[in-house]
Amino acid sequence: MNYALVTGGSRGIGSAICIKLAEMGFAILLNYKSNDEEANKTKQKIEALGLPCELLKFDVSNPEETTAVLTNWLDAHKDAKIEVLVNNAGIRQDNLIVFMPEEQWHSVINSNLNAFYYISKIVVKNMLAARYGRIINIVSLSGTKGMAGQTNYSAAKAGVIGATKALALEIAKRNITVNAVAPGFIATDMTKDLNEKELSEHIPMKRFGTPQEVADTVGFLASKSASYITGQVISINGGLST
Ligand code: NAP
Repeated sequence: MNYALVTGGSRGIGSAICIKLAEMGFAILLNYKSNDEEANKTKQKIEALGLPCELLKFDVSNPEETTAVLTNWLDAHKDAKIEVLVNNAGIRQDNLIVFMPEEQWHSVINSNLNAFYYISKIVVKNMLAARYGRIINIVSLSGTKGMAGQTNYSAAKAGVIGATKALALEIAKRNITVNAVAPGFIATDMTKDLNEKELSEHIPMKRFGTPQEVADTVGFLASKSASYITGQVISINGGLST
């Protein structure tokens, strides 16, 4: 069985990505942090497509927990190939820097940037052995352009973009591609506190994007059709300048 591991797969963009990859025939390893109800809903949708979905509940910002769950899973599935890794889990905690407590800085860096390191380090070993892999990192317009009130989040996402480019060079010769997808405003729980109507006025396409629109690009990058694309950042933002 060929597996796709999606972090933050319970809701929003991650859930749409899990379903897209299941439609492409992958068995899904769905990571999430705490929302059992939403994780089970996505699992049921995947199983309804006739594909297996295993829930891997762990906090991607916790290195011990992440390492324990992933290494135990790999030890228990000796022949399993994780062909696709989507580093999607993320949080934002916006604040102007002068008001930002250290905790807010570190939790956003840990969940968005350090998690990339904790997970990729383990999964890349599995891909190197298989001499094949697709890694897709979900970053943000905030990381390509910078956004006021998001120094922590912009720094974390820009960090993942740098890591995407570096890792792509490290493992290209083993047939493993590493790319990033940078959404603008996408309608999910993460953006439900924003004024969608007002912000849409500034978006050339005059609307927020959908999780499906992000998942379709991730599906392409995860496919054999994207075999010569690596180290790239693809923006999905309705025309906002990056
Ligand atoms: P969301 O609706 O808030 O969902 C976040 C997902 O990440 C949930 O599945 C959540 O699990 C999981 N998660 C959060 N922290 C985690 C942790 N420490 N360990 C494991 N799982 C964790 O977010 P979204 O809008 O779909 O965003 C997905 C990705 O796209 C993020 O990386 C985000 O930064 C990026 N992005 C989003 C937008 C946007 O406009 N929505 C724009 C640009 C980039 P639980 O359900 O268990 O809480």
